[in-house]
Amino acid sequence: MITVAAERELRHAVAKWRGRGERIGFVPTMGALHAGHLSLVELARKHASRVVVSVFVNPTQFGPGEDFARYPRDLEGDSAKLAAAGCDLLFLPEADTIYPPGSTTRVRVEGPSRGFEGECRPGHFEGVATVVAALFGLVRPDVAVFGEKDAQQLALVRALVRDLHLAIEIVAGPIVREEDGLAMSSRNVYLGPQERRAATVLQRSLAAARAAIEAGERDPARLVDRLAAQIAAEPLAHLEYAAVVAADTFRPVERIAGEVVIPVAARFGSTRLLDNARLRVD
Ligand code: AMP
Repeated sequence: MITVAAERELRHAVAKWRGRGERIGFVPTMGALHAGHLSLVELARKHASRVVVSVFVNPTQFGPGEDFARYPRDLEGDSAKLAAAGCDLLFLPEADTIYPPGSTTRVRVEGPSRGFEGECRPGHFEGVATVVAALFGLVRPDVAVFGEKDAQQLALVRALVRDLHLAIEIVAGPIVREEDGLAMSSRNVYLGPQERRAATVLQRSLAAARAAIEAGERDPARLVDRLAAQIAAEPLAHLEYAAVVAADTFRPVERIAGEVVIPVAARFGSTRLLDNARLRVD
């Protein structure tokens, strides 16, 4: 695995591979890597002959008062995990490589960024769309892999690629969970022991919602009421939102049908966690 920070070195390495007819896979991350991230590297390996992973804690997707400064960083650990997972190139850009001095361009994807994370974290998705567009321009991958963990972000990236004709295949990887069901997240390290136990309510409530749909429930309001009640029964959980949305547009559905996502966000103390269930209902 080679590690590069400069744009010129990145372009040189990728151009060499592309010149040999290789297919370039790309996994963008913010580091503090866990098995969820590594599953995306593995997936990228199945779709490409070379895998580039970026680690960049993107300042523009954090709002004022959010956790940018204390976001976990572990470059040494990340580098060892990526080398073992079969990453070919680790890209560690500085902020002024992503945002060249004088840069004023911001990318805004409308549709799927509305509501939910877009509402709870104003400016977040503009930061995400801008960094993803910049990284795509730098790496120019054939295929990019994102996690279903961030379902609204995934819908946004798909819309970005479609609308700007970027000719990048987007592949999604399923949510990787801890043994007790908690979705892996770099932010789980913020949780105290009681909050950590309480946080499993997200996965339990989503599993119950999935079972209800499998048993024939098609009314999103009734489903969300039950899910919210189950989360409210956990005293350490503070629900921010729960809904049933169409997977591609992230608009709430009136009847549960087609490919839907049930996104939930809740706070445990000062830690905000996301989870979701995705299912196809015929
Ligand atoms: P992050 O480093 O949190 O920005 O995430 C980088 C990528 O890893 C995104 O595409 C996430 O959706 C994905 N990801 C994060 N957590 C998980 C997980 N538990 N399972 C699968 N993918 C994940």
